[in-house]
Amino acid sequence: MSKKDLFLRIESVTPTMAEELADHFGSLEELSLATPGELSQLLGIKLSRAELILAAVREHLSIMPISAVELLQKDLNIPTITTMSQNLDEIFDGGIPVGSIVEFSGSFGTGKTQISLQLCLTVQFPEDMGGINKGAYVIDAEGTFSAKRLLEMATAPDLPIEGGKQLLNNVYRTRALNAEHLIDLVQNAGKMVRDNDIGLLVVDSVASHFRAEFLGKETLPQRQQLLMKLANLLQRLAEIHQVAVVVTNQILANPDAIISSSTEPALGFAWGHRPTHRVFLRKARGSMRVARIFDSPYLPDAEAMFYITSYGIRDKDVDRGDLSHD
Ligand code: ATP
Ligand code: MG
Repeated sequence: MSKKDLFLRIESVTPTMAEELADHFGSLEELSLATPGELSQLLGIKLSRAELILAAVREHLSIMPISAVELLQKDLNIPTITTMSQNLDEIFDGGIPVGSIVEFSGSFGTGKTQISLQLCLTVQFPEDMGGINKGAYVIDAEGTFSAKRLLEMATAPDLPIEGGKQLLNNVYRTRALNAEHLIDLVQNAGKMVRDNDIGLLVVDSVASHFRAEFLGKETLPQRQQLLMKLANLLQRLAEIHQVAVVVTNQILANPDAIISSSTEPALGFAWGHRPTHRVFLRKARGSMRVARIFDSPYLPDAEAMFYITSYGIRDKDVDRGDLSHD
């Protein structure tokens, strides 16, 4: 059955509409997450009609309330991706979960990009080794993705699978040139995810373009609107395609501070409640870093210590032979 036919099965969807829908949505599930406003604009129909269509879609998919027992079962089966640091995995209760958005924030050099690169490799590990046997897609907004560094991590001697260059085959990277381009890339990431069996989407960082392009108070409403759109798109990708979405965020330097503090992630309140889990990174001595998880809907606030080493993210400083935390 063609995609168009799929949409035609929904009550009150005309053939022309079905064509339009097939162009924009990969599946009924994806359509079910659209807002009435979005749909009415896309199809040039009244809001009330869009609401009816969405209700029909949800009924078709039987999106019904389910019991907490069933939910628990689902929660217990959420696949996770290891960071290669047991300490860090533990504050996530196992690793980076698929189906939600995880934000890493922190000042320069705290390990946001290094953690992202590490996950691009571990996502490829088999299920019993802390991975989900899938590839990674990095949307690089800062131009700091380094294939050379990735290779260094991929050839670390302590990987639980055979490492090497072939791990780089399943890591894709695009450069996002500005905020609009970034949103565009995320909008089109569904196809990328489907076609290449992607299990991890990284956006490194969500902050840079927005902070550079939207200066001054008068631009705030537009910035917030675009950020909400970005957050919705990321949430949809995470849920529909069951990918882990990892985003990095800068910290407030000052000018756009809502609360004046140097230990707060950038982009303000509107963005702030969108990631499922937020992790704040800070430097300790040498290559040691501390991660603090906060604001999670079900994980307690907690801290973990890890190192950025030549192997990648680890619990021990392998470069200095530090085994004191055995
Ligand atoms: P920014 O905000 O500037 O993007 P970031 O949080 O993304 O910062 P990362 O690039 O993840 O920072 O981390 C940089 C740190 O990683 C530095 O302390 C650097 O010493 C360390 N690092 C980078 N490459 C290696 C390597 N090959 N071996 C060991 N440590 C490395
Ligand atoms: Mg970085």
